[in-house]
Amino acid sequence: MRVDLVEVIPLSIPLKDPFETSFGRFAKREVLLVRVVGDGTETYSECPVFGPFYSYETPTTARHVILDYIVPSILGRDLKGPDDFQRAVVPIKGHPMAKAAVEMALWDLWAREKEKPLYRLLGGEAPRVPAGISLGITGSVEELFDRVQRAVEEGYRRVKIKVRPGKCLGVVDAVRERFPELPLMVDANAGFGPEQISELASLDRFGLLMIEQPFPADDFLSHAELQRRIVTPICLDEGVGCAAHVRLAARLGSARIVNIKPPRVGGLGPALEVYRACREERLGTWVGSMLETDLGRAYLLAFAALDHGFVPDLFPTEAYQVAGLLRTPIEMDRDGYLRLPSGPGIGAEVDPRAVERYRV
Ligand code: MG
Repeated sequence: MRVDLVEVIPLSIPLKDPFETSFGRFAKREVLLVRVVGDGTETYSECPVFGPFYSYETPTTARHVILDYIVPSILGRDLKGPDDFQRAVVPIKGHPMAKAAVEMALWDLWAREKEKPLYRLLGGEAPRVPAGISLGITGSVEELFDRVQRAVEEGYRRVKIKVRPGKCLGVVDAVRERFPELPLMVDANAGFGPEQISELASLDRFGLLMIEQPFPADDFLSHAELQRRIVTPICLDEGVGCAAHVRLAARLGSARIVNIKPPRVGGLGPALEVYRACREERLGTWVGSMLETDLGRAYLLAFAALDHGFVPDLFPTEAYQVAGLLRTPIEMDRDGYLRLPSGPGIGAEVDPRAVERYRV
């Protein structure tokens, strides 16, 4: 597998509704599209960086690291596979989303060369995965009720709501009362401090599937303290960057579940390492998303076909995007499942007209 060209294309894609988390409000999604040409085949992937709000990477740093460091270490070289890519970028410290964007494109290229669906190459077997929706923070509880109601009617297998300190208890209480049987979880995006541990502990009575990343990424001890006080499992997202973090969390008792996002950990290869570490440490897993476009989500879908146990944050193209980048949109059936395409690689093609429409 020889990489002959890598191009980084900034895109700005309008969202149907603004999406709000504890770290910001987004009316459009700005991502980097990465185009890789190798062995005469063209493939695309996506770098779903936010500003420096989710992690330290930004569109500018990702573009810089890809073009000035990652590309020179692989261009024109004969790579045996995605593992070879990981070895080539070991000297580049950090910047997992920049690395992942190129690495995932190479997985697609590799799978296309082998004429196999990517999900099969990753070890997945299920031809479909359940869909879970992530709902942003809303202006009022009534607005949130409407969104949850719509998600239930559309058939989603579970609902996640974003929360922040102060309002969290009232919001969860209200949603739980209105939807007593709903598979429900919350995500705080590292918005709480250790001094707010009591507010989080009070969530224990609502029968949530899990509480995702309440404290900052490196605060394993506060997570362990909270987990000791509650029955609801804690799930780490921002806090897990590699398999070593999984082992640390397991030893300290910081979490029982890990949200695996391939872009957060440096690509699909590192995501498989995190997955295996979770299995060894008996931590549950599921696949999270970063409000990627349908292109980025096609890669996540392939990774979600592994046996994870919990419903991923994966939804159809139409959930948030005004229009997709892929020729064939990701669709959800009435049972709340997303079907994996059977073609080679991610099994979907990027529409060049959509790229032109959203190019910055
Ligand atoms: Mg999260």
